[in-house]
Amino acid sequence: MQRSLFDTNPAPWETDAPPCVVASVLFAKGPAGPFDYLVPEALRDERKPETYLEPGRRVRVPFGRGNRTVVGYCVEVTTKQVDAKKLKTAQTVVDSQSLINPAMLRLTRWMADYYLSSWGQVLEAVVPAGVRTRAGTRQMVLLSVPTRVAARLTQLKLTDKQRKVLETLVGSPKPLSTKQLANRAGCTPAPISTLRKQGLIEAHTERLQTSTLTEPPVERESPKQLNADQQQALDTIAAALDSRTNQTVLLHGVTGSGKTEVYIQAIEKVVSFGRQAIVLVPEISLTPQTVGRFRARFDQIAVLHSHQSDVERHQAWGRIARGEAPVVVGARSAVFAPTPRLGLIVIDEEHETTFKQDSPPRYHAREVALERARDEQVPVVLASATPSLEAWSKASAGDWTLVSMPKRVSDRPLPDVRIVDLREESQLRGGRGVGAISRPLQQAMDAALRDDGQVILLLNRRGFSTHVQCPSCGFKLECPHCEVAMTYHRDGAVTICHWCDHRQPPPRVCPDCGSSAIHYGGLGTQKLEMEVHRRFPKHECLRMDADTMRRPGSHEQALDRFRRGEASILLGTQMIAKGLDFPNVTVVGVISADTALSLPDFRAAERTFQLVTQVAGRTGRGDKGGRVLVQTYDPQHEAIAAAARHDYLRFANRELTQREATGFPPFGSLVRLIIRGAVEKTVEAFAEQLADRLRAAGGDELRIRGPAPAPVAKLRGDYRFHLLASAEESDTLRQATRTATTDLKPPDGVRWIADIDAVDML
Ligand code: ADP
Ligand code: ZN
Ligand code: ZN
Repeated sequence: MQRSLFDTNPAPWETDAPPCVVASVLFAKGPAGPFDYLVPEALRDERKPETYLEPGRRVRVPFGRGNRTVVGYCVEVTTKQVDAKKLKTAQTVVDSQSLINPAMLRLTRWMADYYLSSWGQVLEAVVPAGVRTRAGTRQMVLLSVPTRVAARLTQLKLTDKQRKVLETLVGSPKPLSTKQLANRAGCTPAPISTLRKQGLIEAHTERLQTSTLTEPPVERESPKQLNADQQQALDTIAAALDSRTNQTVLLHGVTGSGKTEVYIQAIEKVVSFGRQAIVLVPEISLTPQTVGRFRARFDQIAVLHSHQSDVERHQAWGRIARGEAPVVVGARSAVFAPTPRLGLIVIDEEHETTFKQDSPPRYHAREVALERARDEQVPVVLASATPSLEAWSKASAGDWTLVSMPKRVSDRPLPDVRIVDLREESQLRGGRGVGAISRPLQQAMDAALRDDGQVILLLNRRGFSTHVQCPSCGFKLECPHCEVAMTYHRDGAVTICHWCDHRQPPPRVCPDCGSSAIHYGGLGTQKLEMEVHRRFPKHECLRMDADTMRRPGSHEQALDRFRRGEASILLGTQMIAKGLDFPNVTVVGVISADTALSLPDFRAAERTFQLVTQVAGRTGRGDKGGRVLVQTYDPQHEAIAAAARHDYLRFANRELTQREATGFPPFGSLVRLIIRGAVEKTVEAFAEQLADRLRAAGGDELRIRGPAPAPVAKLRGDYRFHLLASAEESDTLRQATRTATTDLKPPDGVRWIADIDAVDML
């Protein structure tokens, strides 16, 4: 049901009054709406498309007591009986064409409902800024001479200048701007404006593109001959495409099994029907290498990612909307690509957490894609070597179709994974620290480098030392604004808070006890880099983490250098774990598999399994084979042991049993409420109140954990509490949350959010 201003306060209709044309308008901020406005005749003239008000365009309307004008999104235009005196009138149309097509209006409305957001806020988030501002285009007034005037040019009484102007304009093959005309006729704008007033020159406005971006040409590739597993996977997707219904296919294939080739061939089919396909990939893998793979197979692909300029995004959006781009490749937000003839959505690396947006409306691109595909009756293909348990449970329950590709292409074996027990290593060294690189890893690296192979080392922590501590009194250096340890960075000799970016010089003496024996502990990528230099002085080493990859393009440059063999060792954070295909990498070392395991997150094991499996997948992709060494203090842990055996099924089944026992997703729906504010007591009290209201609204069907201080209990000066509510049915949970939070006024300075299907637990 659409809410309207009049639902609560029905006006006495004047039944004999004629029905009015009414627009429903939403705003990005403020009350949820929609609000009704009368549409004046001037905005209903279909012959004037520039000022025609239709759903999907923005409109300027008066709002509030002061009647200041604001811009809102028109989502519906209807003719109905209303008390016209009570409605305000829409003023002007902002967009000369619709920004949001009807399918996208339905999808955003669904999102607003599902993510407990306002529809207006969702619309604002979905339409890129560059599209709203029409970046890269300019409104131009163009002049021409009406034919009736041109025909009797010689009979007109004109000054010399005016005649020159008219003759110039008649002689021009296309309309000219005032400036162009004045230049060519060698006059000031004055005679031009006189002629316009006399009706001898006509003017019309047009929007022109001020810049056109061109793509570099790429060498074309032809489809590969599929192996039996790939063929079977393609056949399954093709059957879904032929059925022209909404079906979901989970393509579970080990790293290097050729999943990309399968869905590229499926897209080739889609394109041959004259339809469009959207491919969602994690932002981090939107490298020229990935994009190049698509360019090599399709003409006119459109790429959407977050580092694009407004102009680039606007142009891509336009090409997609006009149906000129058959294939859209992009990160999370590409799920909103305005394809008029959608035929297929593919989500690669479906398990990636970056598909969840961490700002409002906090959507998950997978869920949005599934809903969009349902609405537009097209299939979805989800591809992963390590499917999320949410996806896996759907596929194994038969709701989705499961296709497995358990082998790598060309009969390449999966890499041999060895677990290095760091407890043993440390015993062997008589309890002394083992450093970052254990003996077995050192030996494997030596052997690989001797054979001219390359090495990848994963350490998911940037910086040099991850904690700064005083051994005498126990003092720990924390960020003054967050309850988080400061990380020491050797580059620049500074300590940095990785949450709020606060920086301060490292203490020389302990601020609490004055001891000068400050201890810099914990291992970050910078310290690892130093150790690698020390142990392998003859080999070039590249470090990739958020600190070395600040400049745009640096990611690509580093990968190119590694691909060309200019460095034999690549070390970095998770940004090196994804999608890279370097045949010469013969050893992968996971420096610490335990980093993610210790996080207070019910998905910690799943994340660890995924990370180890994905980084292990970076080796053995060439003829030389590959080995993986996983260093851990917890070798028995199921996530690590299963990843070492490439045993997704075993891991998934075990983990699902645990999730079932606790009621966490995929066995229930989850919402995480985060409450923050400067005064701890007030924040806590409000969190308690929220929990009480939830309990009252949800009853027995709701399970509530917390409120408790969030794992990051203080952030940027705000205290944070959180609570997790789960229920078997998503609808129950969302309904209860909505009921509990409607008209809820937090105390001054306290803010809260509801994160549906939360992924981030910190
Ligand atoms: P995945 O997406 O499963 O990790 P890719 O599609 O990237 O796997 O394939 C891994 C490598 O194998 C790529 O270099 C790809 O070009 C190649 N490849 C894929 N399918 C075939 C095939 N049928 N025959 C030969 N090579 C293939
Ligand atoms: Zn001290
Ligand atoms: Zn901080």
